[in-house]
Amino acid sequence: MMLVPHTGINAAAGRLFRRPAAAFAAGVLAHALLDLVPHKDISAHKAEGVMVFFMLGLVGSSCGWNSPAFWCAMGGVLPDVEQVLPWTDPARGKRRFFPTHSRRLHSLPLPGARRYRTSLLIQSAVSLAALALAVSTCGRHCRRKVSS
Ligand SMILES: [Zn+2]
Repeated sequence: MMLVPHTGINAAAGRLFRRPAAAFAAGVLAHALLDLVPHKDISAHKAEGVMVFFMLGLVGSSCGWNSPAFWCAMGGVLPDVEQVLPWTDPARGKRRFFPTHSRRLHSLPLPGARRYRTSLLIQSAVSLAALALAVSTCGRHCRRKVSS
């Protein structure tokens, strides 16, 4: 999956958790689940990286750097770091370690998957909606937390 949905969807999912550590663990798990969904990928790592830094910055600054939303998003981003590291690059004969980054599990080849896989447009739209939800609903929660 593109890294942008991992960030946005996880940030929204972070609302389900109270402790940052639990949110982080769930975030890593959610990364695996989203990777299974048949989807298109792009290899514009730099552009995606910039977007993701921006999204993480937005979540951190609006929800708090120690918020479940931020750490759930971080859990979603972290596994894909190995996609850009030279020492886990299959093109250089190295292997990747995250289970859903293997060929068999990434974007499950279900019947009709090629035809109906999630387009980049849908992924981006869902990501932005999720990000907006995460950022717009965390404000109250955080302020309450800070004042208590
Ligand atoms: Zn991944």
